[in-house]
Amino acid sequence: DELRSLLLSRIRDVPDYPKPGVLFKDITPLLADPEAFGALTDVLAELCRERGATKVVGLEARGFILAAPVAVRAGVGFVPVRKAGKLPGATLSQAYELEYGSAEIEIHAEDLTPEDRVLVIDDVLATGGTAEASLRLIRRSGARVAGVAVLMELSFLPGRIRLEPTLEGAPLDVL
Ligand code: IMP
Repeated sequence: DELRSLLLSRIRDVPDYPKPGVLFKDITPLLADPEAFGALTDVLAELCRERGATKVVGLEARGFILAAPVAVRAGVGFVPVRKAGKLPGATLSQAYELEYGSAEIEIHAEDLTPEDRVLVIDDVLATGGTAEASLRLIRRSGARVAGVAVLMELSFLPGRIRLEPTLEGAPLDVL
């Protein structure tokens, strides 16, 4: 629809970044356009309400930029999932496999409670590894997953397939 084409027209494809062979999806033109960024925030805040979310989790780093205004607009809390070693308090951590090697993400344990229903927001679903690990973290906190929302999916990568079992029925929305 109209919104979708507005948003997609503000995403820049950068070939061979950050390394040869990678087509990088750059969302900075969208962020710089108040109409597009505002419309995206509205849509995600509406999704937040539809899913009955009580918290929004943003995935470092572009997920923070997208998720924080959504949380404010929807009137729910924002919780960051960070790369290991960045959060000062008591954390839960989750390691996951990358194409080459592995990574680890963390969340402040006290930021989510078993009463919470969490909407996870990020910019791009690539292999699905980051989103999958974040769902595990959220469930380990005792909270429930209300859904995952991403701006884009790299459809030549099996991210959706990798993520599917971990969703446990929670909806995945790609705008
Ligand atoms: P995944 O774990 O392989 O699904 O990678 C997803 C993470 O990498 C997300 O947090 C994205 O922000 C980032 N990412 C992967 N590919 C791109 C891209 O082309 N543009 C922007 N971010 C990307």
